[in-house]
Amino acid sequence: MPDRIDLHTHSHCSDGTLSPAALVELAVQRQVRLLALTDHDTLQGCAAASHACAAQGVRFVPGVELSCDWQGREIHIIGLGVDPTETGLLAHCAAVCEQRRERVHAMIGRLAAAGLPAAELAAAALEAPAPTRTHLARALCRGGHSGSLELAFERWLKRGRPGYVAARWPALPVVVERICAAGGLAVLAHPHRYPLSGGQLRTLTGEFASAGGSGLEVSLAGMGLKDLGRVASLARHHGLAGSVGSDFHEPDLPWRPLGRFDKLPDQIVPITSRLQP
Ligand code: MN
Ligand code: MN
Ligand code: MN
Repeated sequence: MPDRIDLHTHSHCSDGTLSPAALVELAVQRQVRLLALTDHDTLQGCAAASHACAAQGVRFVPGVELSCDWQGREIHIIGLGVDPTETGLLAHCAAVCEQRRERVHAMIGRLAAAGLPAAELAAAALEAPAPTRTHLARALCRGGHSGSLELAFERWLKRGRPGYVAARWPALPVVVERICAAGGLAVLAHPHRYPLSGGQLRTLTGEFASAGGSGLEVSLAGMGLKDLGRVASLARHHGLAGSVGSDFHEPDLPWRPLGRFDKLPDQIVPITSRLQP
């Protein structure tokens, strides 16, 4: 079995379900030899993941997935190889997590007004360092208020639904700069998933590259070959490296399998060649 890598994963420090140590254990089972932990807006899992990787002989890349605003849209930027103790990045994450907490709190207020049990939702959704709507969705499922995560978003949590509160994120150049200042490489996450036209995606990629971005997620688990080709040509056009990963959140979501995705096209420079050893 060939050695595998995965540069986009989540633990229970954000909206994943596994502890950092359990994530590393699963990575080992899947023959992953190079692993980045990229929780949403928090570095809190990096120490435990690093420790577990060292014990298992897996190379660990400290990472983070930062949310940002670009032209009124929510865009995700991965930071790879960041120093998880860098004070500027830690302060950024702390401020964003505080806003996340306020947002989830406000959403719980709306859900309570719609007749749902606030205390039960708060207990489940506000325990992670980086609370997300997915935490609310899981709490709604566990409490029997929704049959699935998708339905929870559809009925309660997405824009225009009773529990929705808009998020405010830092601007894209600010986020790229934070990652670079912490010694990391900035990677535009899942470019194929944004509801953008081809022209808008090219503009976004150009601005990301000008802001100091290093790479695009060219191959992600579950991505079709057509999208892979489209993102690969964007990467080539802007001189960006290619990153790969699963965006793994939980073992029960088989469409985001840890360590499984198509290999990078030959013409794409792998971002791993630019990471510090
Ligand atoms: Mn997530
Ligand atoms: Mn994302
Ligand atoms: Mn992710």
